[in-house]
Amino acid sequence: MYLTKEQVKKDIEAKILSLFAVDITDATGQQVFVALGNLIRDYCARGWVDTNKTYEKYKEKQVYYFSIEFLLGKMLKANLLNLGILDVCDDAISEMGFDLDEIQSYEPEPGLGNGGLGRLAACFLDSMAALAIPGHGCGIRYKYGLFEQKFIDGYQVEVPENWLREGNVWEVRKPDKAVLVKFKGELDIKEEEGKFKVTHKNYEPVLAVPYDTPVIGFDNNTVNNLRLFSAEMPSDDFDLAQISHGDYKKALDYKYSVESISQVLYPDDSSEEGKTLRLKQEYFMVSAGVQSIIRRYKKLNLPIEEFNEKVSIHINDTHPALCIPELMRILLDEYYLSWDKAWEITTLTMSYTNHTILSEALETWSSDLMRNLLPRIYMIIEEINRRFCEQLIKLNPDNQDKINAMAIIAHSTVRMANLAIVGSHSTNGVAKLHTEILKNRELNNFYQMYPARFNNKTNGITHRRWLMLANPNLSNLVTETIGDIWKRVPTDLIKLKEYNEDSAFLSKIEQIKYDNKVKLADVILKNNEIIVDPSSIFDVQVKRLHAYKRQLMNALHILHLYHRIIEDSSYDMHPRTFIFGAKAAPGYYLAKKIIKFINSIADMINNDPRVKGKLKIVFMENYSVTLAQSIIPAADVSEQISTASKEASGTGNMKFMMNGAVTLATMDGANVEIFNEVGNDNIVIFGLTAKEVLSHEMNNDYKSVDIYHRDHALRRVIDDLINGFIPGFSVDDGLDIYHHLITHNDSFFVLRDFKEYSLAHQKIDSLYKKKDTWNKMCVDNIASSGQFTSDRTITSYANGIWSTRIGEHF
Ligand SMILES: *Cc1c(COP(=O)(O)O)cnc(C)c1O
Repeated sequence: MYLTKEQVKKDIEAKILSLFAVDITDATGQQVFVALGNLIRDYCARGWVDTNKTYEKYKEKQVYYFSIEFLLGKMLKANLLNLGILDVCDDAISEMGFDLDEIQSYEPEPGLGNGGLGRLAACFLDSMAALAIPGHGCGIRYKYGLFEQKFIDGYQVEVPENWLREGNVWEVRKPDKAVLVKFKGELDIKEEEGKFKVTHKNYEPVLAVPYDTPVIGFDNNTVNNLRLFSAEMPSDDFDLAQISHGDYKKALDYKYSVESISQVLYPDDSSEEGKTLRLKQEYFMVSAGVQSIIRRYKKLNLPIEEFNEKVSIHINDTHPALCIPELMRILLDEYYLSWDKAWEITTLTMSYTNHTILSEALETWSSDLMRNLLPRIYMIIEEINRRFCEQLIKLNPDNQDKINAMAIIAHSTVRMANLAIVGSHSTNGVAKLHTEILKNRELNNFYQMYPARFNNKTNGITHRRWLMLANPNLSNLVTETIGDIWKRVPTDLIKLKEYNEDSAFLSKIEQIKYDNKVKLADVILKNNEIIVDPSSIFDVQVKRLHAYKRQLMNALHILHLYHRIIEDSSYDMHPRTFIFGAKAAPGYYLAKKIIKFINSIADMINNDPRVKGKLKIVFMENYSVTLAQSIIPAADVSEQISTASKEASGTGNMKFMMNGAVTLATMDGANVEIFNEVGNDNIVIFGLTAKEVLSHEMNNDYKSVDIYHRDHALRRVIDDLINGFIPGFSVDDGLDIYHHLITHNDSFFVLRDFKEYSLAHQKIDSLYKKKDTWNKMCVDNIASSGQFTSDRTITSYANGIWSTRIGEHF
């Protein structure tokens, strides 16, 4: 949209006056934030309504992306950018005596996700809107997002994250579109006039109230919708007194139990906890979402048989897999379709993304729990399973093991991944390597049965947030150099390659990186009270804390460098600043010990004068999208060092390359594809390959203790865990890590890869010392990053899975 600066100023003043009854001269930053947020809502309201009207008018196929997490990040500047009024608002705000970044600091980050999975969902929403695809998000409006992390004495402490305290300017509550979700109770099944009538009795009703947030497309008048449901007591059509038998305390308890469904995001990003409340959350989201979709479909006045031609439902990991039996339930019990017809519609509607290889992280639920909580849904899953097993028996009459392995229900557990594969027409992995491992190993049985269902969609990130917003100076330099086509067609970034030996351009690249490092150094000084040198190498590992991501290997290597420096004061290396950011799941014992370990070595090394500025370690608290946006543009080195085969894709890796960091990586997840794009000269690779790791696991022939005895340098740092060498780090804390590495044989091959990792760091050091070479590597990485945008990923979902239109009407 087009607006003049004067208009923006007038609009803000008027908003401030009407909302807060103060003049702009007396307004606080918080008030300006709320006013600007409201103004953005006004500006996009027409487009929001029109987008949906247009979709309905043309009866266009809609995509609904179901995800238990949406890690959106702050939206003020992103919305201004997408509306095309970022610069004019920035100017207007400054002339009014405020600073836009400061105004945005009043926006709480909606932390409705743990990490990669939720952030991917957010990037996908941005790309669907940018490509004018009729695509919407569907999830839960958690009252509390992911905990806020604090360090006390080097230990992680979790603080509740009350992001709604000051309200949420972006959402619109839609009580008229609320739907009822039913838990527990009994079923009454009768045959009447040849139809099965299923009546659900004595259920516990929960009202799912939608809160809608606009998802603004980049300069294209499209405004899609993110619908998040909040759990409330149904007041009208349900008699609370009936449940509580007039007992007021009981009535209140019941109210709390209902509201608890959308109270808090589970803070674990992989291994499932199997808690009843989590299953309630999943069905709550699924049932509310599918009912809303059906309601909207009815407005089209088309026969229900054409549902799958107008609706695609995407299941982001298995948490929303109950969409399959929920849609079956509605088609069977409310539309009285035959099983076969309902099943055909359902499978054609659904598609599923697998996000993990770790088989122990595949989601399962106890049959008893599910039968009790969701009687009708469980019954439908049993029937899906019965029919599927019948098919399996026909195909594999003599292979009971295979049938057991593939069954949806076995040993009194429901296997959600099996349900998602059987009940959908597409299963995709999130990077080429990941998809190959799924096809050839983890899901090989299913691949053999349904080869055409399996496909790859390598993850991506939105360049609008991760380059244009996070790194405006780089973004401007890119535009000055190659024009601005890249903003719509990010693969155009490849044109930067022509400038990779242009010394004037390279020095501008270097300067921008340096300026970003100065800014981050200020943040570090403020947050951590640590002085870091912007001319040192900023070597960054930011992501969830997980054994497989191997922050521990990074930390042990830093300790190793420390030893070398103090024993040889002339040890030659360019000064390094190691930066960490990572939250651990509150119940993940080992991960929390690793946090304490890193904080302890940081304290020791940062305060040792013998290090002479060669090493600094900074562990930044509360890693989040907001923090990522200030850290990543300042990184020289991107640490992507997971044990090969364990990281399905990674998306952090893509954000870093797009901002001109050099990747130090194992051949894992999308690192493999980054390697293929940038070439051997522009990335530093080390360590076991996925094949080698999987082979060691199969043959059980890895012994970490042998390496421990062979490699003296490595043995020294491992012994430091338990010999009291590190001040403030107790032997007890150290023993937990020591046992993991030695007694329990180092499940993630830290000892095996340590030596190569250390050599890779030496290579980084020597490359960095050749400034022109290094700067050229940065440019080549930025130039190749256009392949890794979520616009590319979403285009491929739209064409290959959903069969939806990409931009036309606008
Ligand atoms: C991108 C992102 C992640 C995912 O990082 P990986 O390195 O791919 O694990 C996690 N958290 C936040 C806040 C992110 O922005």
